[in-house]
Parts: sequence; C-alpha cells; structure tokens
Amino acid sequence: MSEGHPNCASPYFVAGPCSAESENQVLHTARQLANSGFCHLFRAGVWKPRTRPGTFEGHGLKAVHWLRRVKSETGLPVATEAAHAEQAHILLNQEFDAIWLGARTTVNPFLVQEIADVIAGAPVTVIVKNPINADLKLWIGATERILKAAPARVLAVHRGFQSYDERLYRYSPRWDLAIQYMSALPEIPLLCDPSHIAGRRSLVPEVARKALELGMAGLMTEVHPHPDQALSDAEQQLTPEEYVKMVAACSPISGASAQSITDSRLERLRLMIDSLDDELLTLLARRLDLVDQIGHFKKENNITIYQPDRWDELRRLRTRMARRLDLSPQFVENIVDAIYNESIRRQTEIFQKETKPLTDPRLESALQEIKPLPSGNS
Ligand code: PEP
Ligand code: MN
Repeated sequence: MSEGHPNCASPYFVAGPCSAESENQVLHTARQLANSGFCHLFRAGVWKPRTRPGTFEGHGLKAVHWLRRVKSETGLPVATEAAHAEQAHILLNQEFDAIWLGARTTVNPFLVQEIADVIAGAPVTVIVKNPINADLKLWIGATERILKAAPARVLAVHRGFQSYDERLYRYSPRWDLAIQYMSALPEIPLLCDPSHIAGRRSLVPEVARKALELGMAGLMTEVHPHPDQALSDAEQQLTPEEYVKMVAACSPISGASAQSITDSRLERLRLMIDSLDDELLTLLARRLDLVDQIGHFKKENNITIYQPDRWDELRRLRTRMARRLDLSPQFVENIVDAIYNESIRRQTEIFQKETKPLTDPRLESALQEIKPLPSGNS
C-alpha cells in the first residue's frame, strides 16, 4: 500500500478489546488478530476511565499479567492506557511495548507531564489520544511534552471530540482538527480510532475508510470476540471477523495518494470546509428539532405559528451578531430568512398533522385556516 510513515509501518493497525475482561478473552482475541496479519499492536484497557462509578473499571494489575501472556504467546506487542505516573511506571516495569494517554488524561497538562517524566528516554511507544474537548493546542501541547521526554516512538490517535451537537456519531470527528494536527506535527503518525468516533458498530467502517482516505497513518480499533457481552463500549466493538473484513476492504486505499491529498494546501482547506459544512448542517438539524418542539407546544396551546414580535427580535439579534462577526448584513439576512421560512413550513406541517382525533370543532376549523406564510416573510 503506501511507502509508509518513517515512524511506523503504514497503515499501522492497533486492535483489541476496549477492556481486558479475562485471560481467555485477551488470548483468544489476540490469537485471531495475530493470524489475520492486520494487527501490529494489541490493545486492551486494564484501568478503565468510566464516566459513572459502579460500572466496570478494569481488572488492573491482574490484567497487566494477562497482556504479558498475550505478548509471550502470540508475539504481538501490547499496549494499554496509563492515566497517571504510577500506572505508567508499572507498565514500564512490566515491559509493555506501548502505552496510550486517554482522552481524559490528555486534557490535563499536569498528568501528561508526570507521565512524560516517568517515560523519559524509555524504550516504549507512547500514543497520545486527542483530549475529549475540541482543543487542538492542548492535544499538540500534550504531544510536545511526550516528545520532549523522548520515549522510543510517539504516535497520536484521533478519537473524536465531545460535542452536544453531534447526532450521528458518539464523538464528533472534526476532521478539520485532525488535518490541522497532521499539518502541525507531520512527523507524528496520526491513527484514527473509528470505534470511539462512531459509537455504533455499523458506522465504524465508514469512519475508518474516511480516515485512511484523509491520509491518516492507520487505525486503533476495538475488537471483541462477543461485542454484545462486552463489559465496556459494547455497542462499538467489532468481532475479529468484522474487523478483518473492514481493514481488508480499506487496504486498497492508496496511502500514497491519500498523503498527497493532505499535502496539497488547496485540498487540505477543502477537506476542512467539508468538515465545517457537516457541522453547519448538524447544527441546522438541531435547530429545526427545537422548532418542531415549539410547533407542538404552539399546537397544544392554541398559539399561532407566526409571532411578529419574536420574528422582529430574532432579526435584530442576528443582525447584531453579524456585525460583531464581520459578516455582510445582507448575507446574514438571507440565511436567517431561509431558516425562518423552513421553520414556518415545518410548524405548519405539525399543525396540519392529526396526532389524535380532533374532538373540538373550533380547533378543527382554526387549523384549516392556517396556510403557509409566503416565503421571504418578514
Ligand atoms: C479506550 O481506548 O478504550 C478509551 C477509553 O479511549 P478514550 O480515552 O479515547 O475514551
Ligand atoms: Mn473503549
């Protein structure tokens, strides 16, 4: 496929379960992955950063030993997450080939520095996942701290960003930030974690493909023998068979041509624009969801769709925002009108839809009188 990144085989594949759940589970998965030829590094979490207490938090030290067995029995190098200096220390003593900094560690420069101090000069690969929030500088800064400590090799993983606007994926891919990261640190191979971005098994392959098309250096994918029974991230893990099918299908993507996409300034800017357009549409969809909710409220409370005061206020606020953002007032007015007309159209549809048999004849005749407002209404 491609000539490869000077820092690792390309594409570079990291795969394995979200969590190490039992010795059998890791050994069984690792054997399958080793035989597939699509795994350069076996991953499994032993200390799991969980959002809520009381959920599975990993088997800790016991699982560290299971992973050592994976290494000696399959020959695959092994990796797990270190969330603080003490864990990094344990992993170095246990001769782990790689450790990764998770999204909840990269956000904290103190923790990153403490880990950097422990791994300074060590013969270990360190993988820096992006912080959970969409802060490119924080991600670059964390990578620089690790680079300064100079472990044997440094890689990064794009695992998506927390966003309350994201509707399709679990974490917003923000491809524009991944591209900017590659431009800022071209010497660091950037892998994509399609599992955490997608959050759903069915969406993992499309995210993986897109990442490789953008010229990313490889993938970190969650693979579990029985994903539905997984103790963490059950929805997003692939079976070994699904994983092999996915990466085999991705392989024909030429790394060389993908690389030239991100090498060209014009292409890079276009890719960033595509990513922002996706976000604009996602935001619009979210706005229209709220419009629908207001439509139902108006219908239930016999409030008319068109509220002139509210419309005046809306235009005034948007014009003020346009000025502050240095956008042409006419341009903003056109957009606001288009959004407003679509909102009225959707609310009218809600009014016309019979959700339950109408018993009140007054409401029925009122509904018949509601007609869509002419477009461009202001
Ligand atoms: C993981 O890889 O299992 C993990 C916890 O990742 P992140 O830190 O990206 O959430
Ligand atoms: Mn996970």
